Amino acid sequence: MTDIGTKAKELGIRYFLVSYTDLFGVVRSKLVPAAAMPDMVEEGAGFAGFASHLDMTPAHPDMFAVPDVDCMVQLPWKPEVGWIPGDLHMDGGPVDHAPRLVLKRLLKRAEEAGYQVMAGVEPEFFLLSADATELSDPGDIRAKPCYDQQALMRRFDVISGICDCMLEMGWGPYQNDHEDANGQFEMNWSYSDALTTADRHTFFKFMVKSLAEQHGYRATFMPKPMPSLTGNGCHVHLSMLNVRDGGSIMTGDGELGLSSLAYNIIGGVLNNARDLALITNPVINSYKRINAPRTTSGATWSPNSVTYGGNNRTHMIRIPGDDRIEVRLADGAANPYLLQAAMIAAALDGIERNSDPGKRLDIDMYAEGHLAEGAPKLPLNMLDALRQFEGSSLAKEYFGDEFCTAYAKLKLEEWNAYMRHFSSWEKENALDV
Ligand SMILES: [Mg+2]
Repeated sequence: MTDIGTKAKELGIRYFLVSYTDLFGVVRSKLVPAAAMPDMVEEGAGFAGFASHLDMTPAHPDMFAVPDVDCMVQLPWKPEVGWIPGDLHMDGGPVDHAPRLVLKRLLKRAEEAGYQVMAGVEPEFFLLSADATELSDPGDIRAKPCYDQQALMRRFDVISGICDCMLEMGWGPYQNDHEDANGQFEMNWSYSDALTTADRHTFFKFMVKSLAEQHGYRATFMPKPMPSLTGNGCHVHLSMLNVRDGGSIMTGDGELGLSSLAYNIIGGVLNNARDLALITNPVINSYKRINAPRTTSGATWSPNSVTYGGNNRTHMIRIPGDDRIEVRLADGAANPYLLQAAMIAAALDGIERNSDPGKRLDIDMYAEGHLAEGAPKLPLNMLDALRQFEGSSLAKEYFGDEFCTAYAKLKLEEWNAYMRHFSSWEKENALDV
């Protein structure tokens, strides 16, 4: 394990953010001076669990985030600070519903079954004005703004600044673009093992928000921040390797060059998509991205039904090559750790049950979705997704009872808070009844 004191001296780090990610994906931290780190590495940084989105009461004892020092990242834009993801412990044992530990458990389960899980993510985001009331760029008005060179270059300083950070950290960034909504961008870096990708995904959101703030903007990963524009997706590219020899288990002699195991994995993701939507699409606003009416650019780029096709972006699952699948369901609000955990649970379930995904659909789901007879629809709102999750045997088996109870409880509280909110729509539509 890394000697944190030596590392801090070598790198000129004066402070460490010892962090954890709660159930709703919020990153919580203590800022710890380097001199205090050796003790912190042993014991962890102390927190009151109730104060974040975890299923705890104010009466619970101290919760400790034990830093995973080998995963430390020096902030390229503030090199005197190092960020370290932590794992939550209480009373000498792990907190079973802590998202990073949930993912670690599932990775272990996959490894015991003989698989290493590799993943890449494509988190989209908007750059808004500092007060978040409008796009950061008033000139970004094109009806079809995707890949718009002019609008991309007006934000060169912030986008290249983020990309430079990724280059410095060795993430292997390879492309940046203006996305399909005005004000929306996507930046891609190389895939890696699922835990590294989840840590980087978590850090990426922190980095994008931080650099946007430095430039006087506000970055948002909110699933549907603008009603008429394309929302923020977070597509996952999932592949699995054989632990024995590191070879792909997904490449084979089936259709489109995929193996029968890859089709089992597709079957597993299709069968469990509705059960896991509360994880992939976790907030009220998520359901305004999936099931959305056509946007001003002409397409939503998000699924509304549980289907798969070939290299076809109108389906929930796309097959872009012979060694992976792209799951297009999740959005920018997904907790990076739980998102990967959900993919692994669905994939393992598909393999275990020998799931048959049926025939792929070679149709444009946006124009011809009505032809996909019997295709299950995704949940229509968060309560729908919550009920589906609560009844899911898959969630209980793979995520564990403690997690399921905690997550469902906090999500129901969120739904109830939303229902207590009185909107002007209600008045407009019920005032004269
Ligand atoms: Mg995209």
